Amino acid sequence: MKYCIANWKMNMLKADAHSYFTKLKCLINKDKQFNEIKMIICPPYTLVDFIYGGFEYLLDEGTFYAQLGVQDFNPNKDGAYTGEISINMILDSSSIEWAIIGHSERRSLFKESNEFINLKVRAALDNGIRPILCVGETLKERETDKTEEVLYYQLKHSLLDVSCTDKDFLIAYEPIWAIGTGRNADNDTIESANSMIKSILKNLKYKIEKPKIIYGGSVNNNNAKNLSKICNLDGFLIGGASLDADQFYAIYNTLKLTIGD
Ligand code: PEP
Repeated sequence: MKYCIANWKMNMLKADAHSYFTKLKCLINKDKQFNEIKMIICPPYTLVDFIYGGFEYLLDEGTFYAQLGVQDFNPNKDGAYTGEISINMILDSSSIEWAIIGHSERRSLFKESNEFINLKVRAALDNGIRPILCVGETLKERETDKTEEVLYYQLKHSLLDVSCTDKDFLIAYEPIWAIGTGRNADNDTIESANSMIKSILKNLKYKIEKPKIIYGGSVNNNNAKNLSKICNLDGFLIGGASLDADQFYAIYNTLKLTIGD
């Protein structure tokens, strides 16, 4: 199974989402969906129920061709956290199956710590939401050979006391210098980060059976084919390029080439 995940960030209004899914439905109808690749869309909260309703309206016989995720949530069930969306609110929207956790924009712009991220991972797993845990180094950390150290620290603290046998637990390797910059990491860099993550998880003895690792950072329809060649890569997390249905679907299609390897 491979994963093709769209992170819309703070983009798209209802009309945009409607055109997007209408387009996606046409593309999928022409080309029959491929069961070996899971398409996951993470829209802003405001669009979750709209899209869920849209699925039923847009799809034949109610067959879902994509799953929905959130870009973040607050691990508390309720309380005085002005502006936050709680885990219970996520669960209240029965369509949500996934949550991006620890995205570098949350870490840097909203000062989220690994400890807080850990609370989110645990809250997600306790409530049947599958985490897409993001980790990755800055350019400075890479240039000073700190990548492994950074990944170790992030994984150790974000996964503390997590015992997870969910085969769909995803780790997204997202080097910060590659996110939204148009400069993707090359295949060797991603392959070596993947090996680091796997060996760190092994050493930390977290019970994530066969960790699934995806890559995010300036993936688009020009570089996806080459990036898809990376051994043991389980898919992509896509920001900017996922805002365009044609481009997102093209990336989804390139992942097909890797199935059966
Ligand atoms: C992201 O935000 O997770 C991401 C990978 O963004 P982009 O594809 O735009 O680099």
